[in-house]
Amino acid sequence: MDNKRVALFPGSFDPFTKGHEDIVQRGLKLFDEIIIAIGYNSQKQNRYVPIDRMISLINQSFADEPRVSVITYNELTAGLANRLGAAYLLRGLRNTTDFEFENSVSQMNRYLYKELETVFLITSPAYAGISSSIIREVHKYGANVNEFLPYEL
Ligand code: ADP
Repeated sequence: MDNKRVALFPGSFDPFTKGHEDIVQRGLKLFDEIIIAIGYNSQKQNRYVPIDRMISLINQSFADEPRVSVITYNELTAGLANRLGAAYLLRGLRNTTDFEFENSVSQMNRYLYKELETVFLITSPAYAGISSSIIREVHKYGANVNEFLPYEL
């Protein structure tokens, strides 16, 4: 029980997309449990999709998958992983821009909590063009974005 491989999948998920879903599905082949951790500061309520709605939509998307759970947090990701006994961070890599950023973040996270390994999955080509920010922008002007999401917005 103690050597369960638990991964934290941290992000803003505003909104959670099919690209994120793909990372979780593939991560389930590597880990026993995945905790989707939404970074959220209740003092700065600047989300596009309200946090409670996002939590329930993600839960709905993984209703048949008991190994996936969703939480919110407002602290250092490394500290959260340590507290939850998650030895892995799961992140997706779409392109070199993601790589440059993720490289520094993962070095810092391992400095903060030396047992913590970040595992990167290269985005499936079908989802490489999807970003939460583009989806927000397009949805804001009334276009249907459901094709890119594992639920209906
Ligand atoms: P952050 O605000 O931390 O970048 P996001 O919610 O944008 O959080 O993304 C969380 C994680 O999901 C990151 O590792 C990001 O690279 C990955 N990700 C984002 N979009 C996609 C996608 N279309 N396909 C695969 N992974 C993605």
